[in-house]
Amino acid sequence: MSNKYLYDITSQLIGADTVSHHASAPAMQMLADHLDTLGFSVHLQTWEEGRKANLIARVGPEREGGLVLSGHVDIVPFEGQPGWSREPLALGDEGERLYGRGTTDMKGFLAQCLAAAKQLDLGALERPLVLLFTSDEEVGCQGGARLADALPELLGQCPAPRLAWIGEPTSWKVFHAHKGVAGFLVEVRGEGGHSSRPEEGVNAIAVAGKALALIGELQEALRREGGSAEMQSLFPDAPYATFNFGTIEGGTAANMIAEACRFTVSYRALPDQDPVAIHQRVKEALAELDPHDWGSPSRRAEIVVSEPFIAPGVLSARGTPLEKALFAELGTSEAGGAPFCTDAGHFARAGMECIICGPGDLDEAHQPDESISRAAFEAGPDHIATVVRRLLEGPQH
Ligand SMILES: [Zn+2]
Repeated sequence: MSNKYLYDITSQLIGADTVSHHASAPAMQMLADHLDTLGFSVHLQTWEEGRKANLIARVGPEREGGLVLSGHVDIVPFEGQPGWSREPLALGDEGERLYGRGTTDMKGFLAQCLAAAKQLDLGALERPLVLLFTSDEEVGCQGGARLADALPELLGQCPAPRLAWIGEPTSWKVFHAHKGVAGFLVEVRGEGGHSSRPEEGVNAIAVAGKALALIGELQEALRREGGSAEMQSLFPDAPYATFNFGTIEGGTAANMIAEACRFTVSYRALPDQDPVAIHQRVKEALAELDPHDWGSPSRRAEIVVSEPFIAPGVLSARGTPLEKALFAELGTSEAGGAPFCTDAGHFARAGMECIICGPGDLDEAHQPDESISRAAFEAGPDHIATVVRRLLEGPQH
């Protein structure tokens, strides 16, 4: 079968500027039009006055036992990223690799889903095939959260499938688990003044330094506590929640007492850990902190910790029909923990057992001159079509 359709869709997708803060709706509308032509019922869930969209497409009888194929259409920024030697928004076709932002993460998989649908006999499906394509995944899985919250309503009469395949870049390895991501902002409010008289103010940067050290100690404690044997085998490099200080800003000038300091903290909780409890531990630790600046013993800063955003982790059941079908098709028998977070955490919350497995290379995601192997790219539609036939045609497994 010709790959022309696969390449055409991919080229249209790579050409669309869907950097997370830009509009995703035009690219989703393009996909919706193609899926409509293929015979799917398509719906766009929109927000930001129609600039952003998730796509929900379904085909086949509206019964239990369906399958979700999912991926995100948004991409990480490329402007200002050093190292690009090619046009990020054009599909570059060179030798054994295809280039462009999103080839690996993860427009290649979206195009493969459409190409698989085109080669399938959709009239032969006995259970529903549901495509859930999201936006705003790269900025905290916000589109997936929105979609999971409204899923029953968006699917109408169609029962929500219990199995979901998320085609994030794994070089076709199978992952059934990943950590979650959560984050919050810490704001230290001090009192400004002339730097020659520190006792008359309270330096927010000094107090922020104490807060950073305290969160660092909590990191150490979590590392010492460690995770269960299962978590150690899934995440051998770091079987505990890890923290990251992402940004910090504060102060006005070298000769002024810093009035305010803000920093962002993110953390990746194990899928068997409650991410809210970790946020709570940070809040409790900071509430105990002595908020004095060393130069100003009689005044205290105020430390305000924001509510967290949370993209949950996932720990799906082993041995599902989807896992069996992927193992058979891909010739593997190993599943593990993915080193990154996906929309799967939100889908799991909506009752789905999720597997993360896709054609892209993890090492290529978010990189300049992002690329995908031609072999992995061209193999996708057959892999998807075979798994869909096995799960959705004939008697249920
Ligand atoms: Zn991705």
